[in-house]
Amino acid sequence: MADTGTAYDGPAQPDARADGLGEAVDRFVRTRVIPSETVLDAGGKEAAAALARLRTEARAAGLWALPLPAELGGGGLTFRRYAALAEAEGASDHGPAALGSAPLLDVTMLERHGTARVREEYLERLVAGSMRTCYAMTEPDVPGTDPLRTATRAEARADGGWSVSGRKWFTSGAAGADLVTVLARTGGAAGDREGLSLLLVPTASPGFRVVRELPVLGAAGQYEIELDRVRVPADHLLGTGGDALAIAGERLALGRTLRCLRWLGQARRAFDLMAERAATRSGSRGPLAEHQLVQQHVFDSLLALRTTRPLVHEAVALIAAGRDARTEVGLAKVAAARMLQQVTDSAIQVHGAAGLGPDTALPSLFRGGRAARILDGPDELHITSVARRVLRGYGRGHGAATPG
Ligand SMILES: Cc1cc2nc3c(=O)[nH]c(=O)nc-3n(C[C@H](O)[C@H](O)[C@H](O)COP(=O)(O)OP(=O)(O)OC[C@H]3O[C@@H](n4cnc5c(N)ncnc54)[C@H](O)[C@@H]3O)c2cc1C
Repeated sequence: MADTGTAYDGPAQPDARADGLGEAVDRFVRTRVIPSETVLDAGGKEAAAALARLRTEARAAGLWALPLPAELGGGGLTFRRYAALAEAEGASDHGPAALGSAPLLDVTMLERHGTARVREEYLERLVAGSMRTCYAMTEPDVPGTDPLRTATRAEARADGGWSVSGRKWFTSGAAGADLVTVLARTGGAAGDREGLSLLLVPTASPGFRVVRELPVLGAAGQYEIELDRVRVPADHLLGTGGDALAIAGERLALGRTLRCLRWLGQARRAFDLMAERAATRSGSRGPLAEHQLVQQHVFDSLLALRTTRPLVHEAVALIAAGRDARTEVGLAKVAAARMLQQVTDSAIQVHGAAGLGPDTALPSLFRGGRAARILDGPDELHITSVARRVLRGYGRGHGAATPG
């Protein structure tokens, strides 16, 4: 059965459906992006040509860069309105790139924390899709969960600029990126909260090198990179310098929430494949759907989807209101990652060997679910930080005010 869509109809996202935008995005992803996934996954020239075609079509359909600022060439949707259709857009990992919303994190970060020159030089190009970026925090030799130990250093130069040296890995999309945001120590010592900064490093700079690709469960897209005394202009420092943790925290809250929305879309896809398979494959005792143990997979998956979605939208609402969303983002991230892993695993089980083979998107959706529990901070990090924050409230006698 072709994997082109969604029969499962979870709760509607009313505002996006009202003007037809939600349906248009859903249709575009199902009929244009998903059928191109095999070519896009393979990379190389054919993938680049397919992506360029999809982008042209998305522009023509009025679906380009929907959450990006209108004055920069985007669709100008508020984050809340975009969140209502991000699930449909993210049903394919290629959706955000094909529809031009992928730079949302960078555009938001540069608008808030970039110098005037940086904003002028990069923002319009980012929204137009004519340049690519990546984000490098994690390093091979120190735990990514402990950024205070970041070993990459940026030394101040006499001309006011910086000289950046270090090694990063699992930097998504580093090959082919024009600009990489690098977390580096500009002051203080390992373990200090102060003295960490984010710098924008043009990848064409001498001393920047992609060391190797790091396939994740066989999939491409992650890289190890090296910076050897790379010169970075003074105006490519984000914020005031030394404030990387605050900027990264803001970026990660938005980024994790966006990922959760996309994981909902991907889990929904796996759910549809599972339900179709259960309903249409028959043995001597009738369709698989008649087996109670298959029904258990369907029920548990639906429950996981439906209980995760409101958590994610709670995080969306707080971020949209500019409020502290750390607890809600932590809950949503852990729930959505587990949910994606659980639903894709069930869908594979119900398919039997076909679920592990090349004819459905299930292997790639499952891979995404497994990685989800590590990237953007592993489950354990979110579990302990949410629990500590909630428990602190009780310790201060504010138990009733904590979420729950
Ligand atoms: C597909 C993929 C894409 C990625 N993309 C990027 C990217 O673009 N840019 C980037 O900078 N990074 C990226 N990463 C890296 C990712 O963010 C890190 O892997 C993650 O933050 C964990 O860091 P680490 O791998 O160094 O694990 P470590 O910090 O070494 O932790 C390893 C394990 O130790 C345990 N642990 C850690 N802390 C705690 C704790 N507080 N309590 C209990 N147990 C704990 C957990 O089991 C954890 O999984 C990506 C990773 C993947 C898999």
